[in-house]
Amino acid sequence: MKSLFCLLILLVSSIAPAHALPRTVTVILKDKNDHCDKISLVSPFRVKDKTFNNGKYILQTTDNNEVEIFQILERKTLVKDRTIEILPVTNAIKLNERKYAGSIKVRANKYLEITNIVPVKDYVESVVGSELPPHFEDEAYKALAVLTLTRLELIGASSTRPATSIVDTTQYENYTGLQAVSPRIKSCVGSVMAKRLFYNAHQAPKVYYHSACAGGTSSAESVFGEGGRGLKYLKGVKCNFCQESPFWKEKEHNVPRQKFMTLFAGKFPTIEKQDPEGRPTLVAINSKKISGYKVWLSLGRTFGWGAVPGNKYNFADSSDPKFVVLRSRGAGHGVGLCQWGANEQAKQGKTYREILKFYFPDCQIR
Ligand SMILES: [Zn+2]
Repeated sequence: MKSLFCLLILLVSSIAPAHALPRTVTVILKDKNDHCDKISLVSPFRVKDKTFNNGKYILQTTDNNEVEIFQILERKTLVKDRTIEILPVTNAIKLNERKYAGSIKVRANKYLEITNIVPVKDYVESVVGSELPPHFEDEAYKALAVLTLTRLELIGASSTRPATSIVDTTQYENYTGLQAVSPRIKSCVGSVMAKRLFYNAHQAPKVYYHSACAGGTSSAESVFGEGGRGLKYLKGVKCNFCQESPFWKEKEHNVPRQKFMTLFAGKFPTIEKQDPEGRPTLVAINSKKISGYKVWLSLGRTFGWGAVPGNKYNFADSSDPKFVVLRSRGAGHGVGLCQWGANEQAKQGKTYREILKFYFPDCQIR
């Protein structure tokens, strides 16, 4: 009997998710590196027991490294402390023209450090609405929600930071608060709150998505190298579903040659290896070899993501010797779910399960 009991526990623990969805997510809206010392705050809101109803306020740092809430019309300080917690009166707090669910914590650390402690469902809804355009289909919204929920359950309540560019790194997702959320997004997220992506009876340890793959996705290992090793379920699939994306066609941008050469210590780099989809995996700068993904990140950070939106890139001399021409296809790193492809599949009648199965063929959804 005892052995049967143990077997039952083993069976249950191998099926049940090992993690629980956190109740709230802490999103870092500003840290000290953003060098923000002043931000607008619109009523109504609450600090401790006091309700503020008088229009527009300023949150700013003081000479004594404190945070103060300053009333613009009356020109006076109303609250001053090292840390201030702002609570909603209605369903949202309006900060810098954006509305946020949950509460806002502000700390002075020379500059303002602002975090938003947001209920998990509000967070997922905002990520879906910030990542995907408003005309996208329900099933594409649901597919992205399942990936976000899978990721959240694994990182738990630890801090996350909204992405400021189209690059989806391992940690950050686009989050722009409540204005990204429509009733349709709320209903789509609500319908998949209990669903997760599984691989071999465990929740997928890492999930990735990007805007458009422009022909095919790549394996995590070929793009992230060491960081993608062991993530066998993140393999490349052919995808011609993202042809409606503005990034399907090759983009070409001239960038200043001098700045380009400075980035590579004065040596013109050569793409040595590409994966089957044409994403550079190894770039040589003289005898030095660098991962193609790292070079793409450097190019994007230096010249802006508009110059090289996709990881399927190359570069060459321009006809004008003052410039180097950067060419790229797709948008994002090209691993995991292709958002524009997911939307086209949804238009063709595929469910979110079928869409996830297409981009993660070895995974299960339950
Ligand atoms: Zn695609």
